Amino acid sequence: MTEDDARERIAELRRLIERYNHEYYVLDQPSVPDAEYDRCMRELERLESEHPELVTEDSPTRRVGAEPSAAFGEVRHDVPMLSLENCFDEGEMRDFDRRVRERLGQAGPVTYAAEPKLDGLAVSLRYEDGHLVRAGTRGDGRTGEDVTANVRTIDAVPLRLRGEGWPAVLDVRGEVYMPLAGFEALNERARERGEKTFVNPRNAAAGSLRQLDPQVTDRRPLSIFFYGVGRAEGVDLPDSHLEVLARLRDWGLRVCPERRPVEGVNGCLDYHAELAGKRDSLDYDIDGVVFKVDSQALRDELGFVARAPRWAIAYKFPAEEELTRVEDVEFQVGRTGALTPVARLEPVFVGGVTVSNATLHNMDEIERKDVRIGDTVSVRRAGDVIPEVVSVVRERRPADARKVELPERCPVCGSEVIRPEGEAVARCSGGLYCPAQRREAIKHFASRRAMDIDGLGDKLVEQLVDAGLVENLADLYRLEAEAVAELPRMGEKSAHNLVDAIDASRRPTLGRFIFALGIPGVGEENAQALAEHFGDIRALARATRDDFVKDRGVRHVGPKTAESIVGYFDEHGLPDCGDAELAECLESLGIPNVTGRVAEALAERFDGIGALAAAGREALENRREVKVAGIGEVLADNIVRFFAQDHNQEVLEQLLEAVEPQAEASETAASDRLAGKTYVLTGSLERFTRPEARERLEALGARVTGSVSGRTTAVIAGADPGSKVDKAHKLGIEVLDEDDLLALLDGEAG
Ligand code: NAD
Repeated sequence: MTEDDARERIAELRRLIERYNHEYYVLDQPSVPDAEYDRCMRELERLESEHPELVTEDSPTRRVGAEPSAAFGEVRHDVPMLSLENCFDEGEMRDFDRRVRERLGQAGPVTYAAEPKLDGLAVSLRYEDGHLVRAGTRGDGRTGEDVTANVRTIDAVPLRLRGEGWPAVLDVRGEVYMPLAGFEALNERARERGEKTFVNPRNAAAGSLRQLDPQVTDRRPLSIFFYGVGRAEGVDLPDSHLEVLARLRDWGLRVCPERRPVEGVNGCLDYHAELAGKRDSLDYDIDGVVFKVDSQALRDELGFVARAPRWAIAYKFPAEEELTRVEDVEFQVGRTGALTPVARLEPVFVGGVTVSNATLHNMDEIERKDVRIGDTVSVRRAGDVIPEVVSVVRERRPADARKVELPERCPVCGSEVIRPEGEAVARCSGGLYCPAQRREAIKHFASRRAMDIDGLGDKLVEQLVDAGLVENLADLYRLEAEAVAELPRMGEKSAHNLVDAIDASRRPTLGRFIFALGIPGVGEENAQALAEHFGDIRALARATRDDFVKDRGVRHVGPKTAESIVGYFDEHGLPDCGDAELAECLESLGIPNVTGRVAEALAERFDGIGALAAAGREALENRREVKVAGIGEVLADNIVRFFAQDHNQEVLEQLLEAVEPQAEASETAASDRLAGKTYVLTGSLERFTRPEARERLEALGARVTGSVSGRTTAVIAGADPGSKVDKAHKLGIEVLDEDDLLALLDGEAG
């Protein structure tokens, strides 16, 4: 590299790093992962050491952090808060230890204090006469941001020191972090509300602490570990760093329980390996180990370089976040038909393994993060959690990046893909027909509460499908004992028993039969209600939405909106819409709530503005009449959609050649069985959407609310539940899973 090239590259790296510093320290919103930042920094360090003449005092290699944000007051650090030298492999760790021993003129092993490198943000707290008087962030090392009010809200921070013997003035340093459980709950809440999520726990901690309104900080789950002293007046502290930490603990300041003395570089390497193994089981994020020469006397001898002490090093773990490119986005179909977008990635080494797929959760997440095919993205893999795309590096988006489109047809079976309004999850409507769902459909069909086919358990269903003997429900009734007997671990006798058991299921009650079809969201109780109402499976199959729920008035128009429409025309008379479309004209009038889908629904119902103005409240206000107990809008749509699919109709017709469902006298369904009970739903359910679950609970007389309180009967938690579960535990409220919910709906529990 010529001098000119080096000069240019150095300038470019400095600009980049300055920007990354600003995004990370001031905005709490890094645009690249730490690994990328570290690469830039290393390259700059290397170029500067090869070209010492190009080094300037203001280079990021010589400075700490970033200037404090002007939004906060300032705090001066009498003793500067420095950064740490870092290293990434054993060789570099050994180099560090060698340099330390050379400087100290010591041949034998040095005693180091080993501590996890906590991934949060550094703060310095001042206690005067044992009282917390101020707290500041690190800032640029000399001047930080005054976050006293915010730090006071952290439960783990004592406002008064405990015990005795503390210095008259104590500057104590520590790392504010967000425990992982709290981080996940916070993000889950943000996701529920459609708000931005935090990329990782460190940014969540920094973003939460650096709030202008301390009440916001107060609501965030922050904690702290202290790891050092800046200044102590009036007391001589021990020479050993670890003994100093023990004092801090006696004074009520939390210190990390993983700290430990280690002997020489081999002790360091052992500790590093051990902690790496423990990393996933800790409830806080760490990104390496900090080794510090334990003796203060030796530290004084070693001193400092520009931005870091010579007596400490951070030996980092392999990155949990890395950059790579999205080559494509494919959709996987789960066993319940849910479509999950998965990013196909250029393989990348992250979190200790090579990753080439990462989940994108659902379409809402893709839109929120604005992920496109061709984008460079940051991928995170922490612990054994499924790798996920956390963010996009917008400036690296190529001109031909493509938007991700939800497929209209299921990639497995070609059936229509449905995404109900307001739902994040899209589903394949293939049901019985979709190979991705087939096994589950057959298992459900045969199960005890459905067709109750003795001996046809999950394993056997798998075998029959794998052997190609059964593709759809109707195939069960065509099974021959000889073919079944060929299956591994199947004798002739059991094969005959199976065929007999299937035969015995040919006259189910209509309710069981409807339930067995596995229409999304239709449980036993609904199936029973449908059987009683329709009395015949073909009548049910022909039913339209109006046969279940009848909308009176106009969809989406509530009483308030109806009122404001009538009020508008009373006051203003008939406006002139000219040539404008009715919906557009309506939107332009500024009638409260009459926008978007409301305006469209009105335009669909009325021929012109005159007809609308003449309509009274009665004709406008939407009231829904539910004709079959428990079957609301969502289930009605599911049922109609199910029977509208050609392949479902085909399977049904084939089934009806073998099976004769029996209409039966009504066994009245107890539809107020859950009256007086209140439930809260959280997390994602496998077998229902949340509106379906809600509808079914309400059909049994229960109330479903959005927040957990002392009046909540139980919280029903699906996958990845949020803070509601924590709250339930706190209040001692029962937490049910999806199986419990099924049992509850089916009347096995209350
Ligand atoms: P550092 O984070 O590598 O080391 C210094 C810091 O470590 C201290 O200030 C303290 O906060 C922390 N620390 C944690 N545990 C500690 C312990 N037990 N004892 C002492 N200190 C402990 O250095 P830095 O200068 O603060 O930041 C540089 C790092 O920050 C980079 O390596 C990168 O990971 C990250 N960063 C990322 C971006 C980005 O854009 N992604 C930008 C800037 C910085």
